[in-house]
Amino acid sequence: MPSYDLIVIGTGPGGYVCAIRAAQLGLKTAVVERRATFGGTCLNIGCIPSKALLHASELFEEAGHTFSKMGIGVAPKLDLKAMMAFKDQGVDGNVKGVDFLLKKNKIDGFHGAARIAAPGKVEVKGNDGKTQTLDTKSIVIATGSDVARLKGIEIDENRIVSSTGALSLPEVPKHLLVVGAGVIGLELGSVWRRLGSQVTVVEFLDGVLPGMDNEVRRQAQRLFEKQSMTFKLSSKVTTVDTSGKRLKATVEPAKGGAAETIEADVVLVAIGRVPHTEGLGLKEAGVKLDERGRVAVDHYYATSVPGIWAIGDVIAGPMLAHKAEDEGVAVAEILVGQAGHVNYDAIPNVVYTYPEIATVGKSEEELKAAGVAYNVGKFPMTANGRAKVNLTTEGFVKILADAKTDRVLGVQLVCADAGNMIAEAALALEFGASAEDIARTCHAHPTLPEAVKEAAMAVAKRAIHM
Ligand SMILES: Cc1cc2nc3c(=O)[nH]c(=O)nc-3n(C[C@H](O)[C@H](O)[C@H](O)COP(=O)(O)OP(=O)(O)OC[C@H]3O[C@@H](n4cnc5c(N)ncnc54)[C@H](O)[C@@H]3O)c2cc1C
Repeated sequence: MPSYDLIVIGTGPGGYVCAIRAAQLGLKTAVVERRATFGGTCLNIGCIPSKALLHASELFEEAGHTFSKMGIGVAPKLDLKAMMAFKDQGVDGNVKGVDFLLKKNKIDGFHGAARIAAPGKVEVKGNDGKTQTLDTKSIVIATGSDVARLKGIEIDENRIVSSTGALSLPEVPKHLLVVGAGVIGLELGSVWRRLGSQVTVVEFLDGVLPGMDNEVRRQAQRLFEKQSMTFKLSSKVTTVDTSGKRLKATVEPAKGGAAETIEADVVLVAIGRVPHTEGLGLKEAGVKLDERGRVAVDHYYATSVPGIWAIGDVIAGPMLAHKAEDEGVAVAEILVGQAGHVNYDAIPNVVYTYPEIATVGKSEEELKAAGVAYNVGKFPMTANGRAKVNLTTEGFVKILADAKTDRVLGVQLVCADAGNMIAEAALALEFGASAEDIARTCHAHPTLPEAVKEAAMAVAKRAIHM
């Protein structure tokens, strides 16, 4: 019977990164994955395919609407099959990359559903129905998350789809009804709008992107509306009638009241994700869950059972690939007695729409609720030279700095390329930088990140280009 120092269950960004770090640190490591390919939700049906479609559809839209303004005459024609093949190729390259890295680090990979038979024993039921038991000193649960479902609305991945189905629609729906104005709903809504769908987004709360800074949320909604996305806020979809050629969704005010019917060709349910804990034998093994069904862990990712650890979407915290990765590294280091650690105050959050929306640290609402006095520095992209020449002047940069110490507490970006630009802000938070530190750092000209420097200068009311 094979015996390991560590078995990681799940090979998403949490699991495979944890396994590689553990192997680097000298642990004999194996991974178990029930999918045919490694890489988890992120590489197979999440971050990577969605970003491929966002990239391709953004270029399609630019070719149709912006190129002519730059003297480029083209009439783009959509070949959806080829666009899907482009996306699949991107996924294939990425999952093969993980396979290569696991082999390179001499990590054994098992395909099948894992169950914790006891601490130190992982049972793997292969796709051929055969079961084998692996011995190990430690187990890391990195089983990620699954699509959250709406009661009474069955996802068939054909006409009523989750994000997974929305990444592979065979044709562009005339009308796409998106349930949920969170990151996934807005990203995939943007993809299909750019490719020709009319998109209506129904959201239970009174604004888009719940949890983000309110000014960012308002600005984002205005920009999406300008792109002709329609929002029905403070509303809920209660049923979807599938009997006819078109779907008929019943939409009611969130607080109850008169219902209306919205017809659509495809309904995308994007109301969030739930931790993936079934079939793992957690109850029998004595692994405790928290009040929201996530694996409960302490500061060191240890579960209630010695020798069993958990990371990523299956535990508390933002459901983000890079958060899972950092936890993977941290727990591997903790396992060998090092001081693995994740700074949860400096985890960036990006919405890859156009413009992109990226934040790190606190929102204004969070600072107010905590009673922290802060200064705001804001800079509009209309005043950034590169944005002007690129015709990407939508949005702003906002920096929130402690009123007493000038330490940067939060950075909000709504602009083209915000997802790349937020790295500078995350570094600033990680290093405890002040707004003045950013303001005095030389930024290359002409670049969009100059807006970050200007916003930092605006904290002390000394922005130059405004
Ligand atoms: C459409 C979409 C877009 C997204 N875009 C982004 C983005 O741009 N940026 C970002 O940061 N995050 C994004 N996310 C979220 C991101 O995918 C997750 O936060 C991330 O994948 C979590 O990593 P993980 O390792 O915890 O779990 P996962 O990636 O979910 O991997 C868990 C793996 O465990 C396997 N597994 C589960 N149970 C068992 C078992 N019993 N035995 C064996 N294997 C098992 C699963 O098959 C899966 O492969 C997106 C998600 C979706 C759905």
